[in-house]
Amino acid sequence: MSLKIDLVTKRFGSFTAVNQLSLDIPDKQIFGFLGANGAGKTTTFRMILGLIDATEGAITWEGEPINYDKTDKIGYLPEERGLYPKQTVKEQIIYLGRLRGMAKKEILEQLNQWLERFRIPDYLDKKVEELSKGNQQKIQFISAVIHNPRLLILDEPFSGLDPVNVELLKNAVLKLKEAGTTIVFSSHQMDTVEELCEYLCIMQHGKPIVHGSLKEIKRSFGKKNLFIHAD
Ligand code: ATP
Repeated sequence: MSLKIDLVTKRFGSFTAVNQLSLDIPDKQIFGFLGANGAGKTTTFRMILGLIDATEGAITWEGEPINYDKTDKIGYLPEERGLYPKQTVKEQIIYLGRLRGMAKKEILEQLNQWLERFRIPDYLDKKVEELSKGNQQKIQFISAVIHNPRLLILDEPFSGLDPVNVELLKNAVLKLKEAGTTIVFSSHQMDTVEELCEYLCIMQHGKPIVHGSLKEIKRSFGKKNLFIHAD
């Protein structure tokens, strides 16, 4: 288990957003966080990434807290999407790749492969503001994975996409897992989590109400009860 969350609590003033969360997230697997709005998924991700500090408890990756010297090994797709509207796709990704220490040639090779995979091969020189929301989301996904991270955190990666694009992104996630990436993602939908994950945590009001391997959880609770808990 390389990513460990140990009795983590996050309070904002008197409000507890995450309450005594403990999880071992297995290496090179897909781990899903399932929960309704406000369950504490994004707050957990932001603590994993070191963007905000836990009020109590500790999070470590490969035995150490995640700090900025690990940025080039981690990819993050935030829930709130944000690209530079006036830049072209090429400029955007080159800029982000360079921040992670990549050479321009390597960035462009990777980018072209991703655009091909996402069925938008001729989008290199399009300005971000000209793209549909779905295509912007695909570019944002590419910006999270362009440097081949070993740990990838995806906050509701499939929300707002049409079924074809959801499939494209799901396939991309599965391919990254095959290549050895540890992937953590959040969703409101049990079906998506069930399709992609070996392991999951269902959160409600900041608390993990159940976590472990999907097979074991389904055996213990049955699918119907999982839906009831998740909502
Ligand atoms: P969603 O599916 O809506 O994104 P979530 O499970 O990701 O939900 P969080 O965004 O982690 O939930 O929010 C958990 C709770 O913490 C919410 O009630 C939210 O309002 C609160 N919260 C998050 N960030 C802050 C903050 N900076 N200050 C105060 N409250 C916050």
